[in-house]
Amino acid sequence: MSKQNRSGFPILRPLALLILLISGLLYFTQIFNEPSQVEEPKNQSRVDLREALSQIKLVLLSSGSFQNHSSSVSKVIDGDTVRLKDQTEVRYLGIDTPEKASPFYREASQKNRQLVEDKSVVILSPKHKSRDSYGRLIGVTFVSPESKPPADLVCVPFRLLSSGLAHIYIKDSNPLLSSLLPAYQQAQNYAIQQNLGIWKTFRLNSKNDFIATRFRFHKKDCRHMQGRKKIQWISSLTAFKSGRSPCRTCRPALHP
Ligand SMILES: [Zn+2]
Repeated sequence: MSKQNRSGFPILRPLALLILLISGLLYFTQIFNEPSQVEEPKNQSRVDLREALSQIKLVLLSSGSFQNHSSSVSKVIDGDTVRLKDQTEVRYLGIDTPEKASPFYREASQKNRQLVEDKSVVILSPKHKSRDSYGRLIGVTFVSPESKPPADLVCVPFRLLSSGLAHIYIKDSNPLLSSLLPAYQQAQNYAIQQNLGIWKTFRLNSKNDFIATRFRFHKKDCRHMQGRKKIQWISSLTAFKSGRSPCRTCRPALHP
């Protein structure tokens, strides 16, 4: 008995160590393999969203080139407008949420409320033309990281776009919007792919039925397009993907 133990032990010990080592390796291989499993094609759009957020972080690093305004949100007016404690009214830059009486108006306002109400925010605005014709501050709203509950990076327009409760809306180009646009487009494309919110109300296809202008697209009989000589035809899908928004007069591509 004692002889067996003495002769077996030196062999058993390296064997046990080897088994431990292999199981340890297997365990770690599994752990390190997990991220690549997350990045399978079906989750591609989520990965795109993460990339888009890193782009926004880069924009924040260069925030010195833009105007900063800090306060807290006292009232949410609708999906894309809030009033701050210091009475400044803020209209989110580069997006549009449904108007009153339109589908998803209530959802967009609720989402905005959930994101910013009573929270400290930082508004990043262009250095020039930072106010609109109503005197509102035009800017990108970020929830301050010190807000409770602690937030990672909450870029409010980005969240509204990725939830399908806003679409990109460009009035004038400016350096701030240009640097954010690729991330906005990724967020919007994600919501289109997932058919979220407002995207259920649009007819999205590749038929070149609409007329493109720089930032909008129109029905061919829109009164704003009358007498136009050079016509650039565009499909609803390409129009949205390029960051154009539907004309507010002719309201193209809506489901009947
Ligand atoms: Zn139009």
